[in-house]
Amino acid sequence: MRILLAEDDPVIADGVGRALRRSGFAVDHVAAGNDADAALASQLYDLVILDLGLPRLSGIEVLKRLRGRKSALPVLILTAQDGVDERVRGLDAGADDYLTKPFALPELEARVRALTRRGTGQPRCIEVGDLVYDQADRVVKIRGELIELSAREIGLLEILILRVGRLVSKDQLVDHLCGWGEEVSSNAIEVYVHRLRKKLEVSGVRIVTVRGLGYCLESPDAAQTPKA
Ligand code: CA
Repeated sequence: MRILLAEDDPVIADGVGRALRRSGFAVDHVAAGNDADAALASQLYDLVILDLGLPRLSGIEVLKRLRGRKSALPVLILTAQDGVDERVRGLDAGADDYLTKPFALPELEARVRALTRRGTGQPRCIEVGDLVYDQADRVVKIRGELIELSAREIGLLEILILRVGRLVSKDQLVDHLCGWGEEVSSNAIEVYVHRLRKKLEVSGVRIVTVRGLGYCLESPDAAQTPKA
């Protein structure tokens, strides 16, 4: 999952960015409205966290332009404490949810999880064979037993399980896993896939390598060939 964080307060941006990356999200940060608008027009995201008080182009304007491009991307707006009018304008302009500053990080994270989950159009728990992925808590269980996965491994599993039976290219993986400035080589992706594959082995769920093209997560009872 890739998130755009548009926030000009460096302290808030730093705290939010760190917390989300720790949970396995890829986060791109911009501090000005025009940069947010440019990023949203050129890159696919799963969510945008949008401060309304941004320099150069207001958050409201960024949101209006986004919806003007017919994008249904989930938007979480951040507003000032006394900004009732601002909040109303944000929701009217097509925001999905809002948080008032100052906010607690766990609350922000919970809202982010809820919005990204809704965006996938899938149930909270996705079951493939004996494996269950809980999108809300971002945990994996095999026959009821919790499996320990790193943030990267969770991120990787999430991308694959949301597209079960379908081919996911290495480029798509890099796109969803890495924010700007994070270099992740093709070799590193192979290492993550290898580790995840080992940890999921007992569930019978397989991560199939499609040479030169990418990967496909297969349910144990589906011996189908991956569809592009
Ligand atoms: Ca601001």
